[in-house]
Amino acid sequence: MSNRSNLFPETVERPTEAVPVSFEDTSIAFSAQSNSKLRKTYWLFALMNKGWLVNLGTFFIKIALRLHLPIKFLIKNTIFEQFCGGESILDSEHTIKQLHKAHVGTILDYSVEGEETEKSFDETTLEILRTIERASESTDIPFSVFKVTGLASTDLLEAVQIGDSLNKEQKAEFDRVLKRVDTLCRRAHERNVRIFIDAEESWIQDTIDTLSYAMMDRYNHERPIVYNTYQMYRWESLAHLRRDTEEARAKGYYLGAKLVRGAYMEKERVRSHEEEYQDPIQATKEDTDRDFNAAIDFALANRDVLSICLGTHNEYSCQYCVRQMQEMGIPHNDPHVYFAQLLGMSDNISFNLASADYNVAKYVPYGPVEAVMPYLFRRADENKSIAGQSSREYKLVANELRRRKGCN
Ligand SMILES: Cc1cc2nc3c(=O)[nH]c(=O)nc-3n(C[C@H](O)[C@H](O)[C@H](O)COP(=O)(O)OP(=O)(O)OC[C@H]3O[C@@H](n4cnc5c(N)ncnc54)[C@H](O)[C@@H]3O)c2cc1C
Repeated sequence: MSNRSNLFPETVERPTEAVPVSFEDTSIAFSAQSNSKLRKTYWLFALMNKGWLVNLGTFFIKIALRLHLPIKFLIKNTIFEQFCGGESILDSEHTIKQLHKAHVGTILDYSVEGEETEKSFDETTLEILRTIERASESTDIPFSVFKVTGLASTDLLEAVQIGDSLNKEQKAEFDRVLKRVDTLCRRAHERNVRIFIDAEESWIQDTIDTLSYAMMDRYNHERPIVYNTYQMYRWESLAHLRRDTEEARAKGYYLGAKLVRGAYMEKERVRSHEEEYQDPIQATKEDTDRDFNAAIDFALANRDVLSICLGTHNEYSCQYCVRQMQEMGIPHNDPHVYFAQLLGMSDNISFNLASADYNVAKYVPYGPVEAVMPYLFRRADENKSIAGQSSREYKLVANELRRRKGCN
C-alpha cells in the first residue's frame, strides 16, 4: 500500500438492512467530478473535519477581508468552488449543466446576506426575478427560492409579528415588502416556475408564514407554485402542516411545503432562555426526527392537495420517504415529491436518488465572493463535526478515489 492510500480513512460499511436506494454507490455519487476535482474535495473535507482549523481559518479570513487583503483568489478556488455555483447566474451555468447531466436539477439561490437597505432589497428582488426567468427557460431548474429577509428588514418583520402599531413610514415600508413578495410570486406563477420561501427565525416566521399563505391563496389554485418551509425542529410545525393542508383544501388551493429540520436551533434556544419564553424547539433531536418522518407520512397521504420537497442531508429520512413511496405504490418521479440538498454536500444522496429516477435538485448558491462569505462560514462550521454526514462524505470521497485508482 502506498503512503497516499494510507491517508484514506476506513471503507464505509454497507448497512445490513436492505434499502430501496443505496447511498453507497460512490461511482454514481461522484460521477460529475473529475479526478482532480475529487482530490480537491477530499482535501477540503479533510481540512474542514479539523474543527480548530476551521475556527482559525474563519478568524483569519474575516480579518483579511476586513483589511482588503488579496485572498479572494484563494477562497474562490477552495471553499467557494465547493459550495457555490459562481458569482452570477452566468457563472453558475457550468454547474447547472453538470448537475443536469446526472438528472439533478438546480435551485439558483442568490445568497447575498447582511444588506439591510431599501436599495439592496430592490436589487435582490430584481436578481431573484432573473432566477425565475432563467428557470422558465428550461427544465434543469425546477424551483426558484428567496428569503424574505433579503427583501425586508428583520426589525420590521418582527414589529409586524408582535403586532406593534406601525407609523406611516413603517406602513409604507411594509407595503413595499408586500409588493416585492407579490412581484416574485406573480412572476413565478406567470412563468409556471415553483418558488420556495425559505424559513427563518421564529420571531419573524409568523410574518413569513402569513405572507406565504396569502401568496398560495393567490397563485396556487391551478397547481402548487409557492412553497412555504416547515421547520420540523419546532414542536408546533407538524400540527401547522396538518392545519394548513385542511385550510388549503377548504379554500381550494394547493399547499406547497418544503420540509426541513431547521437551521437556527442554537440562536432560538439562547433567545428563548434569555427572554424567558417557551423554547419553540423540540426537546430532543429524536423528537425532531420523529416529526420530520411523520410529516413525510402525512404529505404522502395527502398528495391530492399537498406537494413536498424534503430539504435534508439525513440519509435515513430520504430512505424512509423512498420506502413509504414504494409501499404506497407512488411512482419514483411523482411530481408531488422532491428531494433537495445543498451544492457540495451529500452528493451520495442526490446523485443516487436521481439515478433511481427520483426528483432531485441542489441549492446552488451564487453571488459575489465577499457577499456569500456568511453562507460559506456556516457550511465550513457545519462540516467540521467529526460525527455526521460531512465526515461520512469525507470517507465516501476517499472510497471513490481508491476505487478509481483500482480501476486504472
Ligand atoms: C435544500 C435545503 C433547504 C433548506 N432550507 C432551509 C430553510 O428554508 N430554513 C431553515 O431553517 N433551514 C433550511 N435548511 C437547513 C436544514 O433546516 C437543516 O439545518 C440541515 O439540513 C441539517 O438537517 P438535516 O435534516 O439535513 O440533518 P440532520 O443532521 O439529521 O439534522 C440536524 C438538524 O436536527 C435538528 N436538531 C439537532 N439537534 C437537535 C436537538 N438537540 N433538538 C432538536 N432538534 C435538533 C436541527 O434542526 C439540526 O439542524 C435547508 C437544508 C437543505 C438541504
